[in-house]
Amino acid sequence: MVSLQNVTRIYSSGIGEVRALDGVSLDLDSGAFATITGPSGCGKSTLLNLLGGLDHPTSGEIRVAGIPLHDAGEAELTRYRRHTLGIVFQFFNLLPAMTVRENVELPLLLRGESSSLATTRVSEMLDLVGLSHRASHFPHQLSGGEMQRTATARALVGHPALLLADEPTGNLDSANAAMVCETFSKIASQKIATLIIVTHSDSVAALAPVRIQMLDGKILSKSDSGFAS
Ligand code: ADP
Repeated sequence: MVSLQNVTRIYSSGIGEVRALDGVSLDLDSGAFATITGPSGCGKSTLLNLLGGLDHPTSGEIRVAGIPLHDAGEAELTRYRRHTLGIVFQFFNLLPAMTVRENVELPLLLRGESSSLATTRVSEMLDLVGLSHRASHFPHQLSGGEMQRTATARALVGHPALLLADEPTGNLDSANAAMVCETFSKIASQKIATLIIVTHSDSVAALAPVRIQMLDGKILSKSDSGFAS
């Protein structure tokens, strides 16, 4: 489902070249749940940007759901981001003047889906993340964990093949982080999407059967326990 072959991303600047990713190869099956950890500067954001179709590698090949992102043009990447990918950010990025329901619905309306399909899908997603009772609330009326679960529902409403989460619990206290983790575990166990979470948190990293550690632009280790803990 996700395949990286010998992916290198070199940034050139006035002071020389930085190998942000240096020959990274990785394969994840459909429905896999992986976490990525590593110190600041090891290449996690660069990898997420490439998987998110926001950047091209300097060399190597990246395929997600069969789509060759390494040589996709802008139109194909836009389509990929709208139809194949969902992203959850550290700071939620909800629209403050819209209710929970409207925030979750937005990606479907942007890609021109009918309002009846959107209504059904939004209800399914709010049910999945346990926020049906908050559908008419605005973001400022929610806890941090509820905001992040709203953002997760929004990321999944288009039925993406791949869900990326960038430090999803980085801005949450431990009680809220635990609820968000529960939601990710549910998504993984129901194999709703292939899930990749970048995190600094050991407890988040431990949720996943596949744990990837990065260092200096490379994958230092990949452990695959074959089951979620
Ligand atoms: P992480 O997300 O793990 O902190 P990054 O992917 O942001 O790591 O960065 C990896 C390396 O690439 C770092 O050395 C960083 O300074 C460098 N880097 C990232 N983005 C750029 C850029 N746009 N221009 C130059 N160097 C960059």
